[in-house]
Amino acid sequence: MAADGDVEELRALVGQLRTHLEARGRNGLQGVVLTKTTRAAVAAPAPDRAVAAPAPVAAAPLDESGEAAPPKAKTGKAGLQVVRDDLGDCKRCKLAPSRTNLVFGVGNPDAELVFVGEAPGADEDAQGEPFVGKAGQLLTKMIEAMGYTRDDVYICNVLKCRPPGNRNPEPDEVASCEPFLKRQLAAIRPRMIVALGKFAAQCLLRDDTPITRLRGGFRSYEGIPLMPTLHPAYLLRDPSKKKLAWEDLKAVNAALARVGIHPPKPPAA
Ligand code: URA
Repeated sequence: MAADGDVEELRALVGQLRTHLEARGRNGLQGVVLTKTTRAAVAAPAPDRAVAAPAPVAAAPLDESGEAAPPKAKTGKAGLQVVRDDLGDCKRCKLAPSRTNLVFGVGNPDAELVFVGEAPGADEDAQGEPFVGKAGQLLTKMIEAMGYTRDDVYICNVLKCRPPGNRNPEPDEVASCEPFLKRQLAAIRPRMIVALGKFAAQCLLRDDTPITRLRGGFRSYEGIPLMPTLHPAYLLRDPSKKKLAWEDLKAVNAALARVGIHPPKPPAA
């Protein structure tokens, strides 16, 4: 028979264990690892029925420090699907009522190279696919000139819904949508990002330097090299600037080549 003091001490220990497990549960821990000793202790008959034994919990894998590791986020196709499912029939911002289609992204979920634009236009809204209008056709040519196809890379936008009349995205719309872009990039884990135009570059880099000065130099987005370049719609308005964008894309190919990544086809000269 346990003494009153022992029971009190045991009660206090169980309370502390519960608080600890609840705190770790809030941080993503799904279970605790039972060592041989604790497994035996949990399985052993309780010395005093006045103190409830803690409920046994499922074992979780250990990380390098011996702590139970939080569940790993999915990547690639499965990871993108989780993001798409979370977006659902999104009504988080005021663009939802006027959209025809939510434009999530297209291409290879394991792409080494991701292109990020601003927001869908009328054609993209109608078809549910990014960069399919006039600017999109130019982007497709730029990607092909690099030696890739649209299926090799991944293409998406900061905003998933068309701003009416193709006006600039507004801060509350970006605030609602950008977390999903970040999750898409985290799922794809590309080796390189090309930000198309001022809006994507300034948004991903948190830098309001004009695109004419940002372009052409590598920056870092969460450790991933990012090349800001001119938006294809701008190049359609001023074709004399196409050679600048092509220099940027050649620099992207060269940087990828330095880490052993080559396009499936030889790039244009
Ligand atoms: N412009 C963009 O920024 N994105 C598109 O998808 C189409 C045009």
